[in-house]
Amino acid sequence: MDDRRSTHGSEERVAIVGAGVAGAGAACALDGTATVTVFEKASRVGGRTATRRNHGCRYDYGANYCKDEAGVGDLLTDLNGEGPIDIDAPVWTFDGSGTVSEGRDTDERKWTYRAGIDQLPKRLFERSDGTVETDTRIGHIERADGWRLENAAGDGLGTFDSVVLTPPAPQTANLLASAAWESDLREELVESIESVPFRTTVSAVLHYPFALDRPYYALVNTDGEHDVGWLSREGCKPGHVPDDESLLIAQMAPDWSAERYGESTEEIAGAAAEMVADLLDDERLADPDWVDSKGWRLAQPDGGVDTERLDRAGEENLFFAGDWVAGEGRIHLALRSGLDAGERVAERA
Ligand SMILES: Cc1cc2nc3c(=O)[nH]c(=O)nc-3n(C[C@H](O)[C@H](O)[C@H](O)COP(=O)(O)OP(=O)(O)OC[C@H]3O[C@@H](n4cnc5c(N)ncnc54)[C@H](O)[C@@H]3O)c2cc1C
Repeated sequence: MDDRRSTHGSEERVAIVGAGVAGAGAACALDGTATVTVFEKASRVGGRTATRRNHGCRYDYGANYCKDEAGVGDLLTDLNGEGPIDIDAPVWTFDGSGTVSEGRDTDERKWTYRAGIDQLPKRLFERSDGTVETDTRIGHIERADGWRLENAAGDGLGTFDSVVLTPPAPQTANLLASAAWESDLREELVESIESVPFRTTVSAVLHYPFALDRPYYALVNTDGEHDVGWLSREGCKPGHVPDDESLLIAQMAPDWSAERYGESTEEIAGAAAEMVADLLDDERLADPDWVDSKGWRLAQPDGGVDTERLDRAGEENLFFAGDWVAGEGRIHLALRSGLDAGERVAERA
């Protein structure tokens, strides 16, 4: 494909790489000030905010819910369609020995949508004026008269006044490492961004043809001593699972996940089901009637980044957003980071 120029005359042209919630936030913040194109390597928007539909159930197989914090609440309640719903039941804890305790829970809201958590990025993109190009992996960026982007096949996708990079830190560092941009700052940015640690999480989805009554929505392991890190009941989200069925999401601990990443769904779900049956002391749970799984190699950042260096890149019309910029793997923080980046681009436009 040949390079494209904006059809909007002299209006600022902005490219956003990545259509997760950070990319969605950046696109929304730029409404009315720039012509925005969002490039997404996957065939759908949302990134790690993801929902599947199977056998009459809906389940969030990446992020589970979004908190109403960091000033994103008004934006989320203002989106088209049925508003966010709160998961009422609490989160309890368990330790390495499998002892379950009431606790940890706070009064925080746990938001999702009847149709799934992926409604959040979908509706943000619907609201924004930006154009989303899915199935388009950015393979190369070049500092030219602006920023020139190429897809993975080396085809030019256009030259933009500003770029916002939102892929997880290791992928953003790779793009910068190979960028055609002669600058000491590029090397400093690569060094800072590639140092952000990311953990791997394998999620097992376990379905049962019977109801499972428990006083909590989820259990979280608090001492890091169990191979299950998080276990939740998707049926606590209205509209996700029929009343006489159960669907459990088991997110496995980082070490276990890194070791078993890439194994088949049957292997992952089989091992997870055994552990879940043990943890909930219910042997029926060792034998789900259907299963699913997803490996998230870059699941969540375990640390932050030198934001002073990132801020300096703004002088070159290069911006960053995402949970790793915020320093924690949370939807509301990724969204906040995207909104902030979009506002900074708009100020320079
Ligand atoms: C298993 C799991 C459970 C979680 N649970 C929760 C939870 O309960 N609550 C919570 O708040 N958060 C949770 N999180 C974290 C939350 O999902 C993330 O913090 C948030 O979704 C990050 O959004 P983002 O836009 O920064 O990144 P992403 O969602 O990763 O978006 C980046 C996008 O960039 C795209 N991309 C990458 N490289 C390229 C390229 N070269 N060209 C084009 N596109 C590219 C990717 O395909 C992706 O769509 C969880 C995450 C995981 C994996």
